[in-house]
Amino acid sequence: MCSCSESFPNEGFLRFTVAHELGHYFLDGHYEYIFADGKARHESDTGFTSNDRHEREADTFAAGLLMPEKLFRASCARSKPGLTAIEDLAGACGTSLTATAIRYARLSDELVAVVCSLADRVQFAFMSESLKSRRDLNWIKKNTGLPHGTATARFNRDQTNVAKARRTTSASTMDTWFDGGGDSELVEEVIGLGAYGRTLTVLWQEQLPDPHEDEHESGEDERENMLPSDRWRQPRED
Ligand SMILES: [Zn+2]
Repeated sequence: MCSCSESFPNEGFLRFTVAHELGHYFLDGHYEYIFADGKARHESDTGFTSNDRHEREADTFAAGLLMPEKLFRASCARSKPGLTAIEDLAGACGTSLTATAIRYARLSDELVAVVCSLADRVQFAFMSESLKSRRDLNWIKKNTGLPHGTATARFNRDQTNVAKARRTTSASTMDTWFDGGGDSELVEEVIGLGAYGRTLTVLWQEQLPDPHEDEHESGEDERENMLPSDRWRQPRED
């Protein structure tokens, strides 16, 4: 069991940690990996930044268990995009804002990116498929500097904003965050994550409804519900 629970005493984090450990229990090869070298105790590295394949797979398993794709998408469709949707989903799934935001970026059909930052650095970022497919944009990389002049950069200059879980919303542009896409407008929503000490930024752009949307339906929901399956062994894209 992860020993971090004293430092992050929130229910969402605890639920995610337990689900992550269940991933190690259910996924092929994890038990052997975790208790290799005769270790009797496993210090999990939850929190989405691990470079270890097993830890990332356990995180993916936990996200799928706590935030089932079908229900998640249905709830997304009922909410305003961005931070509002993420907060609604976090409430419904009993998950942390960070875990929910990552899942949201993965499953959203919108142009969405979520960025976790600390002071003037990007800790990690996730972009939606529709953003990643844009050839004219550069992906936000982890361990790089936050773009200057953004609401997030200003917010993080005062640690009290983070500690007190304050929030702010601002207008930004694609070019500011992605070195491309011109001055096309983005909503930049920023919230301090309190005791976690980080800041969550949600960047999104409203899209016009796609008249061909129904043609993109696939068997994705079906596969998500088969646990455990080969799906969990697929390498995660970064
Ligand atoms: Zn682990």
